[in-house]
Amino acid sequence: MGTSIFQEQPYAEYLRKCIQCGICSGSCPTIWENTPRKIVELIKSRLIEDVLRDSSIWMCTSCNTCGLRCPRKILMSDLINYLRAIVVEEGKIAGIIQRILVSLFRYGNPWEQVESRRMDWCKEADVKVFSHAKKADVLYFVGCTPSYDARAQGIARSITYILKKAKIDFAVLGTEEKCCGDPAKRLGEEGLFEHLKKENISLFKKYRFKKIITSSPHCFTVLTKHYPELTEKIEVQHYTQFLAELIDENKFSFKNNEELRVTYHDPCFLSKHNKITEEPRKIIESIPKIELVEMKRVRENSFCCGGGGGRIWMEEPLQERPSIKRGLEALSTNPDIVAVACPFCLIMLNDAISFLNKKENVTVKDISEIIASRLTA
Ligand code: SF4
Ligand code: SF4
Repeated sequence: MGTSIFQEQPYAEYLRKCIQCGICSGSCPTIWENTPRKIVELIKSRLIEDVLRDSSIWMCTSCNTCGLRCPRKILMSDLINYLRAIVVEEGKIAGIIQRILVSLFRYGNPWEQVESRRMDWCKEADVKVFSHAKKADVLYFVGCTPSYDARAQGIARSITYILKKAKIDFAVLGTEEKCCGDPAKRLGEEGLFEHLKKENISLFKKYRFKKIITSSPHCFTVLTKHYPELTEKIEVQHYTQFLAELIDENKFSFKNNEELRVTYHDPCFLSKHNKITEEPRKIIESIPKIELVEMKRVRENSFCCGGGGGRIWMEEPLQERPSIKRGLEALSTNPDIVAVACPFCLIMLNDAISFLNKKENVTVKDISEIIASRLTA
């Protein structure tokens, strides 16, 4: 079955073009028994069945570091997705991957949570919902992790608070919202991805709005790159892009608050997948008395938190996670806050910093949470 890789483009071309330089393996944030370079070597040696049965193909976080650095422009994470898709189609998937996919199919989210709890993050807040409002200028696509994860719910609460402060006419999809399909796509379940996309597109068609903003760089990437029927008509932005515009329009007034040192971790799905690196910095630097202190590896050279590609749900000893390396880099800047702009980065780095920062004087916050805490009442 795996032999189709030798005929199908662009994978056959990738195999032909690879010069086995190993830059991909050297760039990779995760530790694999069979490195990306080795995987190509094994496939070219017709040992594809060994590759498909090896857990290494589930280690990729889809960070795209190797894709940016490969001298032959090979997109390794796409190649690995293709291999994952073969295993998924054969039904030979491990427990947790199966659970995520079943949860996506059954509940429309990867967190094994029922749809009716999707708005639990805003029990007390007064957020407009499209099923009642029918139209709004902006559709805020909350995403599964800020809807259900206790730590990441702060992102949804902060973004809605900020939008209200800026007097933006926005609404959310509430319990009708479904996963954008990122986990299904990254885990090789293309059929399930198409199913979720179809459901979301028909939901979007029910309501009137001019723009979508997302909490997550993963939803942003999927909506902008894999929902062409949507982006032909509607602009989609990550919330940091939208807030950077609001800052240009002087929509916010900040409290004269305490001085803080903030270091910013670029999420791969903003920086490496979309070259969005300036807007988050612009937001941080616009907040009075906040000093942005940079880590050694920034922007497209940032080091992955390890949470993409479905890895956030997979077991990995804490000490071996990429987020521990990144957490050490962040702490070396002596920050008060490690800022992120992604719910997966928030969870991964929060765990890492809690583990590393014994004095508990450093916190991990999403940029939305930092802004929300500094706006005047
Ligand atoms: S960096 Fe590109 S050319 Fe080099 S081994 Fe990896 S895939 Fe092959
Ligand atoms: S996309 Fe990232 S995690 Fe995946 S092989 Fe490339 S460098 Fe490694």
